[in-house]
Amino acid sequence: MSTKQITVFHNGDELSARTFRALSVKLNNRGYRVSQTYTEDTELIVCIGGDGAFLKAIHACDFPGCPIAGINTGHLGFFQDVLPDGLEQFLDQYESGEYNLQKLSTVAALVTDEDGREHRHIGLNEITIKGRHSYSVHLFISIGGKPIEKFSGDGLIVATSAGSTAYNYSVGGSIADPRLDLLQVTPIAPMNTTAYRSFTSSILLPADLSLGVVPEHEENQIFIMNDGIETAYTNVRSIEVRVSDTSVHLLRLKGYDFWNKVKDKFL
Ligand code: NAP
Repeated sequence: MSTKQITVFHNGDELSARTFRALSVKLNNRGYRVSQTYTEDTELIVCIGGDGAFLKAIHACDFPGCPIAGINTGHLGFFQDVLPDGLEQFLDQYESGEYNLQKLSTVAALVTDEDGREHRHIGLNEITIKGRHSYSVHLFISIGGKPIEKFSGDGLIVATSAGSTAYNYSVGGSIADPRLDLLQVTPIAPMNTTAYRSFTSSILLPADLSLGVVPEHEENQIFIMNDGIETAYTNVRSIEVRVSDTSVHLLRLKGYDFWNKVKDKFL
């Protein structure tokens, strides 16, 4: 009998907790060890909840190398293919290898602080750069090392393709097929007046180009959000945002189609 480990996370709501118990029994019956803590010998991570719970699981495991599958318990559910009443079928398909692994790129921000120390943040959806409270920010933007504009507005979202349907979409960014390895730089409330000139649409960057951001010197506090996790910095020298070499391997059942999901969730 197999004693292979499957790590299962759930978001704590009633249906997710019930689904967790049902899944644990089925996994034990099939000879798997169920853990709620990620360790390197985990062969699969299962996350029960919505996209927010999925993001939390990815961060809790520090972007694991093993596959991760999502079970949707009533949320938007872009990262999930399995429903609570489809557990038996999911496990059959998993054991017989009837699935694909979707490789999702991530985005990394390297923040250099006032003392020259570097801090790295990774996001599956996006990196967001904002000022303190509701103040506008003024950011010198370069692409591939070439100065482009001084952005003025509420902030910038640098989204992966997988994250294009999240915050990026809410502020008018485009939906990008996750097979496209790119970064989408989307302005949040850009000012475009005779006083300030900023791009008002998203900019798409290929995976080998980085975005450089230097806050204007009076911006003494900058907030970096990776998938909604906020870190405050004082007197940031520079931020470099690029496609990261870390990827997430999402288990997709046969029949998964990104554009069907977009239609189901948004239209
Ligand atoms: P949250 O504010 O509780 O949830 C934000 C919503 O975004 C949830 O409905 C979530 O879906 C959905 N979502 C997350 N990733 C998605 C994706 N890749 N495609 C489509 N929808 C997605 O925050 P959270 O649950 O901790 O998630 C953090 C994310 O919230 C951030 O990465 C950012 O993208 C997003 N966010 C959105 C806005 C906005 O739209 N105005 C503002 C701030 C942050 P579920 O219902 O399935 O969990």
